[in-house]
Amino acid sequence: MSAFETELQVALNAVQQACRLCRTVQTTITSEVLDKRDQSPVTIADFGSQAVVCRIVGDHFPADPIIAEEDSAALRWPENAPFLAAVCDHIRRLGIDANSEDVCSWIDRGGATEYSQRFWTLDPIDGTKGFLRKGQYAVSLALIIDSRIEVGVLGCPNLPVSDADDAPVGTLFYAVRGQGAFVQPLDTDAAPQPIHVTGTTDPMLARFCESVESGHSSHNESAAVAQKLGLTATPVRMDSQAKYATVARGFADAYLRLPTKTGYFEKIWDHAGGVAVVEEAGGRVTDINGKPLDFSRGRELNQNRGVIVTNGHLHDQIVAAVQTILASEASAG
Ligand code: AMP
Ligand code: MG
Repeated sequence: MSAFETELQVALNAVQQACRLCRTVQTTITSEVLDKRDQSPVTIADFGSQAVVCRIVGDHFPADPIIAEEDSAALRWPENAPFLAAVCDHIRRLGIDANSEDVCSWIDRGGATEYSQRFWTLDPIDGTKGFLRKGQYAVSLALIIDSRIEVGVLGCPNLPVSDADDAPVGTLFYAVRGQGAFVQPLDTDAAPQPIHVTGTTDPMLARFCESVESGHSSHNESAAVAQKLGLTATPVRMDSQAKYATVARGFADAYLRLPTKTGYFEKIWDHAGGVAVVEEAGGRVTDINGKPLDFSRGRELNQNRGVIVTNGHLHDQIVAAVQTILASEASAG
């Protein structure tokens, strides 16, 4: 048996089930309800996804802490009882027998905040805005040991399985350190296929991804970086860690996440799953200063600023261009 085989199988199963729940929430809620209730359908899927993943991971590895995005505090408020009932209902649709107390306690298995020698980190729905727009979102789960990511799984329910025009959507990516990165369809038993980053070495020919939300990554600065590199392709804008998957499978050469606010620290669950997949596909991930991401600080990457993901070949040139642009903006005040 290869290293972390049990952990990988448990993580894949957990993420697949969470993706099923997210999809059901998305299809059973009409656009009218989405508009009227604003954030509510997202919240149901966020809580449901976290409950499902933490139940499965916690049952198999009861000693492992989980640092996840949500907690059950608001769900337990009496006025939110109908909400909690809806979360339970979606979990039961997966064939899991659950009452309200079970669901809240599963969610709270994700309540670790401090770094430990071995722990999991989970984003039950990364890219909430993408989920709402029926665009890209991801369920991201990773196992970290001695501050290194050993296993990463990304479920991307709306990401096409290939670049063919009529490709069905629903893609699962995973990586175990030292064993490569793989993709498989979310819905079938098709065999996993290895994935690799591009071989692009000329920055002028590169295509990069960035957030749809300019509040999460500066579009102005990425455009200036592109201009500096002579890069002309339109950036691929998408929500969530689907951007990491896009670089890992060679559909783009880089992903830029350039800070918009001083004092904001990236959350570990927004990156760990994606970093594992990109690195095992042959790519490189650092912050905007070229420093490796430091997963030993608890919930936040508080030793890092922004994130730069590339196919490896382009990394130093892109980091240098980012540094130049940020320095010229700083000196311009
Ligand atoms: P994306 O879909 O790549 O735009 O990223 C979504 C994630 O951005 C969410 O999960 C948030 O945790 C995170 N986020 C929220 N505010 C900021 C910010 N100011 N800068 C960077 N990321 C943020
Ligand atoms: Mg997120």
